[in-house]
Parts: sequence; structure tokens; C-alpha cells
Amino acid sequence: MGSRFAATVIGAGPSGIAAVSNLLAQRVSRILWVDPFFSSGRLNKSYREVPSNTKVSLFLDFAQAVKPFRDVIDTIPSPNPVTYLQQLDQNQHCPIANAADMCRTLTDGLIKRNDVTTVVGNVNAANWADNAWQLGLDGSTHNNNYSSHLLVLCTGSHPKSIKVPPPTSIKDIHLDIALTPTKLQTAISASEPATVAVIGSSHSAVLALLNLYTLATTSHPKLRIKWFSRNPLLYAVPKGDWILYDNTGLKGLAATWARDHLEDDTIQSSNAARYIDKVNLPKGESFTTSPALAQCTHIVQAIGYAPNALPSLTLNRAPLATPLAHNPRSGAFSDNHGRTVPGLYGAGIAWPETVTDPEGNVESAVGLYKFMKFLRRVVPEWTKTLN
Ligand SMILES: Cc1cc2nc3c(=O)[nH]c(=O)nc-3n(C[C@H](O)[C@H](O)[C@H](O)COP(=O)(O)OP(=O)(O)OC[C@H]3O[C@@H](n4cnc5c(N)ncnc54)[C@H](O)[C@@H]3O)c2cc1C
Repeated sequence: MGSRFAATVIGAGPSGIAAVSNLLAQRVSRILWVDPFFSSGRLNKSYREVPSNTKVSLFLDFAQAVKPFRDVIDTIPSPNPVTYLQQLDQNQHCPIANAADMCRTLTDGLIKRNDVTTVVGNVNAANWADNAWQLGLDGSTHNNNYSSHLLVLCTGSHPKSIKVPPPTSIKDIHLDIALTPTKLQTAISASEPATVAVIGSSHSAVLALLNLYTLATTSHPKLRIKWFSRNPLLYAVPKGDWILYDNTGLKGLAATWARDHLEDDTIQSSNAARYIDKVNLPKGESFTTSPALAQCTHIVQAIGYAPNALPSLTLNRAPLATPLAHNPRSGAFSDNHGRTVPGLYGAGIAWPETVTDPEGNVESAVGLYKFMKFLRRVVPEWTKTLN
């Protein structure tokens, strides 16, 4: 027997949690939710030790934005991860672990609801036929006869990397490791000389530099860092009721440390100059061809994030062309002929909304509360076809 749902949400990271809660807020009563872990996505898996780039208040705004979340919070005993965040200075930043724990609490509450059915596993295929997406699942002991009219992709992203061509025998340090000090310290020998190349000038690159610098000045005295950068560092700038470069600029600890230690006018007078050697890459030149790379023993690539692999998507068994054409204002997708794909939507870091700030800069809106704001606006539109 097949199981027919109104909506399926793929992914239980922050955007998946927000998508499920917004569907519930629209009184969608049969929701299928699929994830291999149901554990706050990358916030929990990879960023627990990362200092947040958003203020504590925004995490709580996320948790209190919709009634299904508030219902969860009202029924859990105190103290809990939400009350913990409430006790912190709302204008400060916090370890992402605190936000991950909050998301886990919300997830656990949503899972208990009768109108949400969860499957632990991966969706590997979805075919649109007979007015519904028929799903193929793996990693689950459940049957494969699930279908739903709406299919919401909250599938997340992963760090991009470029293959470094031979002859170098440089050792790769995954960005997730570089962002996790307790793992980074064992990824590099504390007693042998090591020179780590850090590629990029993003928020993640600065945090990787900070973590490596901390090791070099403490447990790893033979560690040196070469920082390959093509672009100047960009900072978020508060402008009263909005923030310039809100999504692309450095914030929080990364911004403070970068200003004090990485700018051309501060690095030379900073202790960081003893450990960090900046390699300015000319426009258009790849780090892979830089002679300085040959002097490095390890490499951390912080060159952006790419959407995770999607399930194989077909319309009446005809494959949808990839990469999918995504409408970042509505969350919908188009097929190979530019026609809107029925019932298919995306949200989260893989499928962010684009926003234009008052100075005309266009950015992808990435962050828990931004996912929530987007979903509160679009889910009422998405669910119109269910009525
Ligand atoms: C270094 C860093 C720091 C950040 N700091 C902050 C911050 O301080 N504040 C903030 O608001 N935001 C922050 N963000 C941005 C954003 O909130 C996170 O990236 C967040 O993890 C994105 O959530 P997501 O749900 O879109 O994706 P993810 O967290 O990646 O979750 C995706 C989920 O989908 C599942 N999935 C994928 N494919 C399938 C499939 N086929 N079937 C079933 N399940 C599937 C995955 O297993 C995963 O659980 C940060 C991002 C980065 C990179």
C-alpha cells in the first residue's frame, strides 16, 4: 500500500525544520519528513565549535516565529536549549552548538506530532506522475511507496574544493575540520614543521586562519600559515535598521579578529605576521598555479559552498535538466523548457532567497532567521494548490 502525503520535506537542517513548521502553520496536516539523522543538519554535524555570525536574539526569533515552534517550546521542561539562549546577552554571538541544540529540540518536538511522519533515510529519486511526486528512498526500512503533491528541497550544501594537480603531495584538511579546533589540533603534527595553505577570504577562511593561528601560538609552535587571498576582506556594516553586506560580510568574532590581525595596515604590527604569510593572488590566477603552494604541507580550501547532490528528479520519467533552474524569489523551479515544475520548491542554504539591500546590492539570504522569513512569505503560496 502506498502512503500519500500533502507535502514532503527533504532535510532536517534549520531550513527543513522551518519548512515543516511553516507547512504546519498553514494547516497542512499530512507531512512526510525525510533525513538520515534528524540532528540539526550541518549546524550540529560540522559547526558546533564555530562562533555564530548572527546574534543570539536572531536564533530566538527563529524559534518563536511560528506557532508550531512555540507549541514545542511550551511543552518542554525547563531548563532547555531555548531557555539557555534566553539567558545569554541577546546582542552577543554564541557558539553554534547552542543554536544546533535549539534546532534539535524543535526537531524532536515536531517529530512527536501526529501530522508529521518521519523517515530516517535519503530520498534518492522523485518522479512527478498523477499529480504527485512518487519518492524513492534508501537507507530506510520503510516501503518505497511514498508520494506527495508538494516536494520541498531543504537539502543543504557542502564546502567546495578544487583538485590540486600533481606533483604536489599536499595534505588536504577538510574545511569542516579547520572550523573545529578540537579536531584541527590532531590533524596537524604538533612536533613536525608544517605550513598550511588557507585559500579564500570568506567568513569560513577567516575562522580557519584564526583556529590555525591559535594552534601556532599554543600547542603547535612549528606551524606556519600561508593565506592565499584574491579579494579584500568584506565586513558587514550596521546601517541602523539594515546591514550592508549582511550575508557576505564578516561579522562577530571573525570580523573583530580580521580587523585587528589580517588587514594590510594591521597584519605587520600584529603578532599574526610571525605565523601568517599573506599571498596576494592576482585577479584570474588560481592558487593551484601559485609557486607559494609548493612550500605548503597542508591545504584548507574555503572557497565557498555548493548544493548537495539532489535526488534524481523526473517529470513522467523524463529527467529534469541539471543544474535546476531555481527562482530565488518564489523558491520554485523551472523545467528544461522554462515551465514551472509542479509542486517542487527549495529553501535553505542550497536554495536561498535573493534580496536587494537599500544600496542595490543583491545577495543570497543565508541564516536561520532569513530562511524563516522567506518560508513565512512563500509557504502560503506553495500550499494554495493543496486547497
Ligand atoms: C561556517 C558557517 C557558519 C554559519 N553560521 C551561521 C550562524 O551563525 N547563524 C545562522 O543563522 N546561520 C549560519 N550559517 C548558515 C546556515 O544557517 C547553515 O549553513 C545551515 O546549516 C543551513 O541549513 P540547511 O537546512 O539549509 O542545510 P543543512 O544544515 O546542510 O541541512 C541539510 C540536511 O538535508 C539532509 N539531506 C540532504 N540531502 C538529502 C536527501 N537526499 N534525503 C534526505 N535528507 C537529505 C542532510 O542530511 C542535512 O541534514 C552558517 C553557515 C556556515 C557555512
